[in-house]
Amino acid sequence: MAEKIFMLNDLRHPALAVPATPVAPGGTLVDALARPLHDLRISVTDRCNFRCVYCMPKEVFGKDYPYLPHAELLSFEEIARVAGLFVAHGVEKIRLTGGEPLLRKHLERLVAMLRAIPTPSGRPLDLTLTTNGSLLARKARSLRDAGLDRVTVSLDALDDSVFRRMNDVDFSVADVLAGIEAAHAAGLGPIKVNMVVKRGSNDDQILPMARHFKGSPVILRFIEYMDVGASNGWNMEEVMPSSEVVRRIGAELPLLPLAANYAGETASRWRYADGSGEIGVISSVTGAFCGDCSRMRLSTEGKLYTCLFATRGHDLRALLRSGADDLAIGGAIAQLWRGRTDRYSETRGIEPAGTKAGAKKVEMSYIGG
Ligand code: SAM
Ligand code: SF4
Ligand code: SF4
Repeated sequence: MAEKIFMLNDLRHPALAVPATPVAPGGTLVDALARPLHDLRISVTDRCNFRCVYCMPKEVFGKDYPYLPHAELLSFEEIARVAGLFVAHGVEKIRLTGGEPLLRKHLERLVAMLRAIPTPSGRPLDLTLTTNGSLLARKARSLRDAGLDRVTVSLDALDDSVFRRMNDVDFSVADVLAGIEAAHAAGLGPIKVNMVVKRGSNDDQILPMARHFKGSPVILRFIEYMDVGASNGWNMEEVMPSSEVVRRIGAELPLLPLAANYAGETASRWRYADGSGEIGVISSVTGAFCGDCSRMRLSTEGKLYTCLFATRGHDLRALLRSGADDLAIGGAIAQLWRGRTDRYSETRGIEPAGTKAGAKKVEMSYIGG
């Protein structure tokens, strides 16, 4: 692996600026390309118990990797306060992610705090979580009791040896399936399962995964392997376009296209012609969906990112810890979103991110997927 260890703490993050004129919350914020702010993804830890080859390869994330010390992390109180401000400014969906979010101790306490946030419309907040499933069998019930609506579980293969190679920590498929089962029993549905397809590594698992989840309540989604971060040694030859995934499945299990559930949905939906469920494909590389991107990301240590492929975040934690009031912090968030012009996936290959001296794309395990 040619890349050097990427010291996240070394990134220079501009402080989040407070606008001269306060911005009172009141409905949806729109960015410079007319995209509304609807989703907030919150990374609650930069640590993970897996070493997925496409995300946290062992060569980079070894035992000496400098993870964030606990004091650098946002506390649950800080996260809930920020989330409340986002909701007041129109966010309707919050996803907890990481790293592996279930490694953060007492996460249920945060879930309960987020559940208690009132929304301007009175409609309940959509509260969800993405997990590798390793701790789900143990935690599904308490997460549900705390108020979590749904989970998305990542699973890259049905064949045990392929999966163990992908997660690189010898974790078994059976244990993830047990987590999915527990989530289903606890009522954390509809459950989505995400499979990252890396050509030559697990593309032979597309059909076994489709066959396994066909006819079940689980919605299986295939994600194109992305050039996030600076660690995974990404190259285009290992990307399998979603069109090929749909073709391969459709040749054996006929598929029909479905309309999107809402504008900005990342997955294109397909249903089995025999009525036995649906799948999704997320064409993060071959079919950019920046035009509808309504997501802001909050990193583990309180940096805001307006794009998954950003090279720098905006330091919200400093503002939070400066004693600023809600109007000032909410105004700073509003100003950041209003100035947003990110559309990396649409310009990939034309203006690659991280090409300026010292600028590197942020890691997926730090910012959350
Ligand atoms: N650890 C949790 C998990 O794996 O579900 C949550 C965090 S993980 C970064 C979120 C999602 O990002 C996972 O579904 C994972 O498969 C996906 N992901 C990570 N690296 C990726 C890459 N290079 N390309 C596409 N998806 C990726
Ligand atoms: Fe961990 Fe999720 Fe990244 Fe895999 S994809 S290494 S489980 S954070
Ligand atoms: Fe959104 Fe950035 Fe992804 Fe485009 S590249 S969809 S702007 S996160």
